[in-house]
Amino acid sequence: MIRETYTGAVLTAGGLPLILPIAGQDAAVVADYLEAVDGLIFSGGEDVAPACYGEARDERCQEPDPDRDLFEIAVARAALQRRLPVFGICRGLQLLNVAAGGTLYQDLACRPGTMSYHSARPPERRRLIHPVRIHPATRLSAIMGVRESLVTSTHHQFVKDVAPGFRASAESAEDGIVEAIEQADYPFLVAVQWHPERMVHEHAPHLALFRALVEAARR
Ligand code: MN
Repeated sequence: MIRETYTGAVLTAGGLPLILPIAGQDAAVVADYLEAVDGLIFSGGEDVAPACYGEARDERCQEPDPDRDLFEIAVARAALQRRLPVFGICRGLQLLNVAAGGTLYQDLACRPGTMSYHSARPPERRRLIHPVRIHPATRLSAIMGVRESLVTSTHHQFVKDVAPGFRASAESAEDGIVEAIEQADYPFLVAVQWHPERMVHEHAPHLALFRALVEAARR
């Protein structure tokens, strides 16, 4: 299931959204999909199976969807090899981190001092929940053009170890958890833990993320 906010944000940014159905891990199928697109968004959703990063499932981790995990990991790894433009949102950030060898905290409570507000309930989906600090001299700061931003937040998992070759590009202002990652020497690989797709109409820096993806996809 993909929310209309994602496809709407791509359209607003001048791109043409296509949705890829979950389709197994066959390398030829994955390659054909990647031929058909100019860039990818890994969207929000359920928790990535901890087995994908070598951990046992904590009771606070949701029941995983192995078909989605395995398909998306196969697509992510193939896309990274081809250096396709890639944008990750919420679960998408977590999925990209795991696909590239990083790990996750399975729940906010797994790290002492983490604020509970990251996990805003559905009625608050569009509310600006918490501030993030954007690290200077990152691709994220170049795209968004701001040092700090308020963001929507609907996650209870977050990055533990940043994947090799990636770096953190934003952190939550009050408890310092990783809120964005990127790969510096890659044409376009940006991922955020918040939900910019819910903010594109009111907040230009968040629309700028989709515009940057569409521009990268055009090149
Ligand atoms: Mn957050």
